Amino acid sequence: MSFEPVIGIETHVELNTKSKMFCGCSSVDSTIAQPNQFVCPICAGFPGTLPTTNSKAIEYGILISLALNCKINRLSIFSRKNYFYPDLPKGYQISQHSHPLASQGSLTIQSNTMTKMIRIRSVHLEEDAGKLIHSNPEATLIDLNRAGIPLVEIVSEPDLSNAEEAVSYAKELRSILSYLQVSTGHMEKGALRFEANVSIRQKNSRKMGVRREIKNLNSFKALQRSIEYETQQQIKFHKSNQTIVQQTLAWNETTGQTVVQRTKENDDDYRYFPEPDLPNILIENKWINELKQTVPELPFDKRKQFQAMGISFDDAHLLASKKEIATYFDAAVKIGANCCPKITPNTLANWITTHLFRLLNEFDTTIDKTHIRPQKLVSLITLVKTDVINVNSARLVLREIHIKPTDPLIVVNQLNLQQTLSDKTLSTIVNDILEQHPEQTQLLLEGKTSVFNWLFGQIMKSTKGKSNPKTIKNLLKSAIENKRIKEK
Ligand code: ADP
Ligand code: MG
Ligand code: ZN
Repeated sequence: MSFEPVIGIETHVELNTKSKMFCGCSSVDSTIAQPNQFVCPICAGFPGTLPTTNSKAIEYGILISLALNCKINRLSIFSRKNYFYPDLPKGYQISQHSHPLASQGSLTIQSNTMTKMIRIRSVHLEEDAGKLIHSNPEATLIDLNRAGIPLVEIVSEPDLSNAEEAVSYAKELRSILSYLQVSTGHMEKGALRFEANVSIRQKNSRKMGVRREIKNLNSFKALQRSIEYETQQQIKFHKSNQTIVQQTLAWNETTGQTVVQRTKENDDDYRYFPEPDLPNILIENKWINELKQTVPELPFDKRKQFQAMGISFDDAHLLASKKEIATYFDAAVKIGANCCPKITPNTLANWITTHLFRLLNEFDTTIDKTHIRPQKLVSLITLVKTDVINVNSARLVLREIHIKPTDPLIVVNQLNLQQTLSDKTLSTIVNDILEQHPEQTQLLLEGKTSVFNWLFGQIMKSTKGKSNPKTIKNLLKSAIENKRIKEK
């Protein structure tokens, strides 16, 4: 009997509004503030205080819902979700339950081989809880900066059929949020967190199994690995006739295992009831229509546009994944088209997704923070295309213009990187290298072509970047040809 996983994802998004969901406290990156710096009686849960709703958070919630093709509900209602936990000073979380902000949406995921529509069940507004800090062995500390930060929860239908699809879904969602600019999307800081509901069923069967929910997944890797592990685990349970019960699990990144936290409470356990201190939200069509006008072009369309320029699916995916990257690429393409010689979108895509991304990774930074503005990247590529420098030198220059706000050509001159050696000098170098390595030369003469690249590398090294690889290849080829003729 063969099984397949069935997965539904719940996503929590911290909105980047200036203030919290129900009070005026700052909600600007709580992780860099002093502990408990942004706290007032409302978000600290003092009795007798009155919350008020942040309208910017509603606006952002509507934008997300529109981008996910949802129906915006005319009436939405805040509810109290009652439970006790030390990071929740009120003893309840204000959330939405029976009347969410929006419902019945969809998100399309795409890979090289498939396109699939995932249904969105609902989008609702709520508030984040505080943070417990366990670093002190004597005590647990509490930081309420995060308590009351606006959250949007996005709940998918169980339409995902494997870990890869789940990751595609999560990545697409992060991209959309980046384009809407409603959240930092920083997963490592908890601004974007996923919960995966996983069950298994027999292939081709319609009957759903009992799900277990893996909480707080903070990276795509954790999402992928935890789903793969949990699927295998449930198959094992099934084969050994153990009943699967609805449970909440934590993912342990170190052991690579899921651990049971609690046997799942029902909705009833939370004693949901309408929040008496807040008015219902009535959303007018006029507001929705105004917001519709401000939804930007989304990653799905951007990708299509890039592919239409001749960019491969994988590169288009990378380039459209974040708003900043797409904007950078668009700017570079525009500048490249007006250059002489023209720098094509494909060349730019290659440079960005290989050399530039590698450098940004190494410096642990992002494309909007480097000194390499699109104009400079294009100038650098032009230097390569016009044979002023070779690719290896260009990578050195790229690093320099990332560190300092300087021009590629200035760096080329400072580091003396021009390909200045004459063909005659290069010819001598080629012959010298062949003489220094008679064994390899002999092998090449006997037709062992794999030594060609090795000899080529030796020559490049001895010219210290001051040569054009194409020229060297040609010179090496003709030197070998000459030897062959002499031998005959
Ligand atoms: P709750 O509100 O109690 O968390 P829901 O039934 O609303 O539970 O579902 C929460 C999530 O679990 C949704 O993303 C949904 O798609 C997913 N889900 C529901 N049933 C299953 C199932 N049998 N297998 C996998 N995922 C499921
Ligand atoms: Mg849930
Ligand atoms: Zn407050």
